[in-house]
Amino acid sequence: MGQRSAFLSKFNENVFKATNLTVQKREKLFRGHDLDSLRENAQAKRAMSLENADVLWKISAEQFQENGITVFFADTAASANKFISEKMGDAKLIVKGKSLTTEEMELRQFLEKEEREVVETDLGEWIIQQRKELPSHFTAPAIHLSAGDVAQMVNRKFGENLPADAHALTAFARRHLREKFRNADAGIIGANAICAKPATVLSVSNEGNVSLSSRLPEKLFIVTGWDRIYDSVEGIEGVQRLLSASATAQEYTSYVDFFRKPLPHQQVFLIVLDNGRKALMESVFSDGARCIRCGACLNICPVYEEVGGHTFGKVYHGGIGALLTEFTGNDRDASAIASYCLRCKTCEPACPMGIPIADLLARLSESHSLPFYLSLPLRMLGRRVGAMRGRQKDQGIGDSPPSSGTHHSSPITHHSSRSVAVFIGCMFRNPLMKRERKGIESTVARFFPDAQILDSGCCGMPHFYKGQLSAAVERLEIIEKMIEPFETVLLPCSSGFAYLRERFGDKIELMSMAMVEKLEKVDSISPVYYHQPCHLKTGPGTKEKAALNQVITFSSWENENRCCGSGGTYFVQHPFVSRKILSRKEPGMDGKFTIVTSCPSCLLQLRRVFGRGRVAHSVSYMLQSATK
Ligand code: SF4
Ligand code: SF4
Repeated sequence: MGQRSAFLSKFNENVFKATNLTVQKREKLFRGHDLDSLRENAQAKRAMSLENADVLWKISAEQFQENGITVFFADTAASANKFISEKMGDAKLIVKGKSLTTEEMELRQFLEKEEREVVETDLGEWIIQQRKELPSHFTAPAIHLSAGDVAQMVNRKFGENLPADAHALTAFARRHLREKFRNADAGIIGANAICAKPATVLSVSNEGNVSLSSRLPEKLFIVTGWDRIYDSVEGIEGVQRLLSASATAQEYTSYVDFFRKPLPHQQVFLIVLDNGRKALMESVFSDGARCIRCGACLNICPVYEEVGGHTFGKVYHGGIGALLTEFTGNDRDASAIASYCLRCKTCEPACPMGIPIADLLARLSESHSLPFYLSLPLRMLGRRVGAMRGRQKDQGIGDSPPSSGTHHSSPITHHSSRSVAVFIGCMFRNPLMKRERKGIESTVARFFPDAQILDSGCCGMPHFYKGQLSAAVERLEIIEKMIEPFETVLLPCSSGFAYLRERFGDKIELMSMAMVEKLEKVDSISPVYYHQPCHLKTGPGTKEKAALNQVITFSSWENENRCCGSGGTYFVQHPFVSRKILSRKEPGMDGKFTIVTSCPSCLLQLRRVFGRGRVAHSVSYMLQSATK
C-alpha cells in the first residue's frame, strides 16, 4: 500500500480506536503492580532459556518422543511445510488455530495448493481468511476491521443478513466452524511456550478453538519457533503473565491448553522451526530474540496506530516486525518496513521484554540502503539545507562528523577550567531556528555566565538512527574529548540530551531543567501547553514537565504526550504518515495559546499546524517570561 492510500484508508481509524482502547485497559491493569520487577524477572528467565535453547530442546525432545510425540526440527519454512505435508497423508479438511509461525511459513497457502481445505478457527484469522488478507496485528489479526466491515463480508459471502453486531457475527462464525471441527481430519495449532522439564507444550487462547482444533482430529500438528523453549514451568509462568497483560490487557487468557502426550486416538507432531531464529540469537540483534509477539509495542506506536500492520509490516509488524522480517523473511521487505519507524522509542517502555527496538533498527539500517523512492526525499532535503547553509550538498540535518582539523570551532583545543558547558547542537544552526539560538545565547549570558558554549555541531544521533554507525561513533569520540574537562554539560535539545545522557551519564543535563532554579514562577494570561518530546518518555527527561511546572503554569492538554510525527527527517520521508500523526495533536485548539517544547525538531513540526507564534522552545520561552 502506498503512502497516500495508507494515509487515506478508512481501516486506519479502526486501528487507532482499538489500539488506544487496549493501551488504556493495559495501563489500568498494570496500575499498582510492581511492573519493573515483574519485567526484570521475566526478561532474565527468557534470556537464560534462549542462551541454553539447544540443550533445553534436546532434553524436551527426548521426553516428548518417549511420550509418543514426534519432534521435527526444521531449518527452513520449506522443510517444515514438506514434513507436515508428508505426515498429513490424505487429510482433506484441516482446522487450524492462530499461529504467526505458520503465517511466516505460509503453511495454509502451501496446503491449499495441495487441494486441502484449511479452515482458520480463530475468529480474527477466520475473518481475514475470508477476505484473503494477511493479519495486521500480532494478537488481533483483524484489528483493522470494524463490525460493519465484517458484517458486510459475511452477508456477501454467505448470503446472510446479519447486523454489524459482534455477538451476532461471532455466533454465525461459531455455527459455521462447528461442523468443520466435527469433520476435520487434522488439526494445526501454534504453541506459545515449550517447557523443557517436564516436556510440555503450552498454548493460550481466548475462544476455545485451540482445544477443539487439537483434541478432535486424529492428527495434530503443533508448530512452534525454536525460540519458544523455557527451562521450567516457573520460567514460563512469569513470561506468560506479562504476555496476556501486554497483549490483550487481561490478567490471564480465557483458555490455557497443555500437551504432554497424544490422546488415545491421536498422532501428534511437534514442529520446531528455526528459519533464522538461531541466526538472530547469535547476531548483534540478539535482544530482539526475546520478543514474545505480544503486540504491546504496536498498540502504543504512533505510526502503527495510523497506518496499521499491512503498511507497517507484513507477517510481523511494527519496528520489531522489521527486525523479525529481516531474519525470517525477505530482507527487502525489512528495510521498507523499518523506514516507517520514527525511532521515537515510544514503544520501548511498553515492551515487557525490554527490547531496544529503535536502537536495533538503527543498526539494521546500517546494513541496508533505503529503497530509491524513500531515499530521494531525504537527499533532496539534504541539498536544500546544504544550500541554505552555503555548505556542502550532503550536509542534511545532522552534520557529517568533522574530520580532524576541519571543524570550524574546536572546543577540544580550547580546554577551560570552567565546569559548565553548553552543547548547542546542530538543530540550532538551522536558519529556521535563528531566534531560538539567540535565545539560548542570551540565556547562557544571563544565567550561566561562566559556561562555555560548545558550538560543535551535531551530537551524532541523526547518524545513529539513520544507521550511519561509524559516523555516529566517530562523533561520540569527538564529543567525549570535548566534554571531558566539564563537570556539567547542558543541552537545549531534548533529543541530543536523551542520546548523550544514555552514553555519558549524569553530567549531561537538560538546559530547561537547569534553568528552573534560577527563575521565579511566571503566570501567563493565555494558556500554555506542554508538548512532551518522545525522547523524553523514558529516563530523567520524564521529569521535565514537573520541573518546568515550577516556573510555568501549564494548562492541561490531553494530547501533550502524543507524538507529533516529526522524527527528524521523517516528515520528508513519509509526509502523509507524519501529517496524519500530527493531525492528532490539533483537535480543539483555538484562540491564543503557546505550546512549549524542548525538542527543536518537534517545534518545527508543530509550527506547521499551529503557526510560528504559538510554539516556543522551552529555553526561549522561560527567558522571555523572565525578561518581562
Ligand atoms: S520507535 Fe516509535 S515508530 Fe518505531 S516502532 Fe517504536 S514506537 Fe513505533
Ligand atoms: S517487541 Fe516487545 S512489546 Fe513488541 S511484540 Fe515483542 S515483546 Fe511485545
